[in-house]
Amino acid sequence: MITVPAYINTIIDTPVIQYLLHERPIFLAFGLALMVIIGIFFLIKRLTRAKYFAYKADVIYDLPWRWNWKKNTICNLWCYCPKCHQALVYDDTNHNAISDLTKTDFICEHCDSQIMASIKGGNKQFVINLVQWEIRKKIQTGTYQSALLKT
Ligand SMILES: [Zn+2]
Repeated sequence: MITVPAYINTIIDTPVIQYLLHERPIFLAFGLALMVIIGIFFLIKRLTRAKYFAYKADVIYDLPWRWNWKKNTICNLWCYCPKCHQALVYDDTNHNAISDLTKTDFICEHCDSQIMASIKGGNKQFVINLVQWEIRKKIQTGTYQSALLKT
């Protein structure tokens, strides 16, 4: 004879469960079937998820970058201080009048406003696009997997 813990009996004795057990067993069966279907759905979703979705951090242009995936889109892409890991601030107003080159400086306010990287070629959005392009290139070539091992 199996002894059922007292709390199980307490749950079974509740009016709602008693009602479902005796009056509407079809609802219980339906509920269980629904839970199994939802479980299988999430299992398939997890198994078919692209492997590169685990790739969410890398060092690109000498800066640690982190991002999230929303379906196949890179989102919340930003860079962090290599020393203190705080989010960096940017300055892309620095136009060089002589060479007419635009650059974006990434500065850590936590580390005495030190410029952690200066990326030439364009403004902040240009750098974001450039880093996204690097991330996608690494995924296409499979080289992103070495970054997975580091994080
Ligand atoms: Zn810092």
